[in-house]
Amino acid sequence: MSYDSNNIFAKIIRGEIPCEIVDESAFFISFYDLYPKAPIHVLVIPKGEFENAFSFHNDATQEQIYGFYQGLNQVIAKLDLNNIGFKLLSNNGVGGGQEIFHYHVHLLGGFENS
Ligand code: AMP
Repeated sequence: MSYDSNNIFAKIIRGEIPCEIVDESAFFISFYDLYPKAPIHVLVIPKGEFENAFSFHNDATQEQIYGFYQGLNQVIAKLDLNNIGFKLLSNNGVGGGQEIFHYHVHLLGGFENS
């Protein structure tokens, strides 16, 4: 499957669909999940065109990979999740439950025991 530049997250990056932004840089954008599955549920996505974790890790430049994961950490710190705890989840491929085919990481937190 090749990257479809009309996927929802590509449209969010281009500003064609609104979202509630947490943080962004030249390399990533993070925004609240529209259908949260945890008290805190944000998505962090690279701005480049990558379908899933495998293609991102395979095809992105070192600068893109560093910029993305640095952004992820920035969001973790901004939401204080480094202190209260969090889960990181990435669904990959139809068999992995992925619904939107632009690489993204789910950042989940605020659970009862946190
Ligand atoms: P996945 O199953 O890993 O592909 O997850 C896609 C996620 O995107 C789901 O958790 C959806 O709730 C979320 N989602 C779908 N549309 C939007 C949107 N327009 N803005 C924010 N989150 C969205």
